[in-house]
Amino acid sequence: MWDLDGNEHLDLFCKFGALIVGHGNEEYNAKLMQYMNKVLSVDQCDLEELVCERIIHHVPSAEMVRFGLSGTESVQNALRLARAYSCKPKFVRFQGHYHGNADNIMGGRPESAEHPVPVEYEGDFLGTDGRAPNILQDQSFLLPWNDSIALEKLLQERGDEIGAVIMEPICINGGGILPQPGYLEKVRELCTCHHVTLIFDEVITGFRVALGGAQSLVGVTPDITVFAKAMAGGSLPMSAIVGKKEIMQLYVAQKVIHAGTFNGYPLGLAAVLATIELLENDPSCYERMENLLIQIGQALLEAAKSVGMPMVVQGVPGVLLFHSQAEVINYARDYEEITRIRDILTTRVCKDYGIQFSPISRFYSNLLMDESDVIFFRERIGEALAEVHRIGGMF
Ligand code: PMP
Repeated sequence: MWDLDGNEHLDLFCKFGALIVGHGNEEYNAKLMQYMNKVLSVDQCDLEELVCERIIHHVPSAEMVRFGLSGTESVQNALRLARAYSCKPKFVRFQGHYHGNADNIMGGRPESAEHPVPVEYEGDFLGTDGRAPNILQDQSFLLPWNDSIALEKLLQERGDEIGAVIMEPICINGGGILPQPGYLEKVRELCTCHHVTLIFDEVITGFRVALGGAQSLVGVTPDITVFAKAMAGGSLPMSAIVGKKEIMQLYVAQKVIHAGTFNGYPLGLAAVLATIELLENDPSCYERMENLLIQIGQALLEAAKSVGMPMVVQGVPGVLLFHSQAEVINYARDYEEITRIRDILTTRVCKDYGIQFSPISRFYSNLLMDESDVIFFRERIGEALAEVHRIGGMF
């Protein structure tokens, strides 16, 4: 990318991971142009069926599909659907996981281990004025992730109130943390046993780590999944709720409302189809994007070492994160405030050197990236980190 002053930038931000097709992808743009004349003015079109078929083909949990516009709204609709299906009012979420900007699901910390309801606190990164009173406490429980004993205990004690468990199957927002071996399988088992609907929030991981989402990699199938961001390639807003027929049938039976003026709008569907086709027709693309990210991560580690800065790189193919500390983060609670501040500083300073990371410290690849981007990164990261280290000396 070039800014208004003509400076060149490497975009590892990729619009919070949405931009999987890359900047100015001609094939993608041509596919959208092809649909411009055809579909702009109709409210339903053949694309709907085509796109649903492709999603159902790739995503293990998808038997039926509904479209929306943003991750936030589709998460909220998925929770409503899950509550309706389970006939129980509350949901469980996890520390470090992010599910959009709605009042009932953003920020907070557990009041205590014995009473794991989320409460607001001073200094919360995701704290906000204007939140509806008591909405966090009234609707949800907040547990540590990767801790099946905590979930088991809560479901044993309060399972008759809990209709849904929602999580990122790979916790990108909490620092790029992988599920412990057996954890997701245990969650799946507990949810089935306690009649709780399991929701995977694949807003980041969907399409980005694999066409079938993270669930196709981890081998655990939720009841409902939410997609957004990269599913339409990065230029248009699209999200989706997919799930088991038995659950999604509640929409068909009009027991559950899913309203939205622009739901399933044709150009957005064309963007989803174009993205899926680009990914399908380029079978080695995930390997290529992973390989480039790994090289960039490696260059970052080498540069940090040469200036004496602690640094780790972690995550999954498709999205990596750096943390300016010595140890990899295994639990969201281990992502310390001081590391977070150093990571923000690194991201900010690198921007001045033409390297754009995604907040707080993520980096994404896209279909158009190649070795020249790695070279660009290598050329600039050394000086950028030297500057970070100089400023960060105060920490
Ligand atoms: N879920 C996850 C896992 C996300 O990362 C985000 C956005 N960062 C959302 C939901 C909310 O999506 P949106 O910004 O499209 O509302």
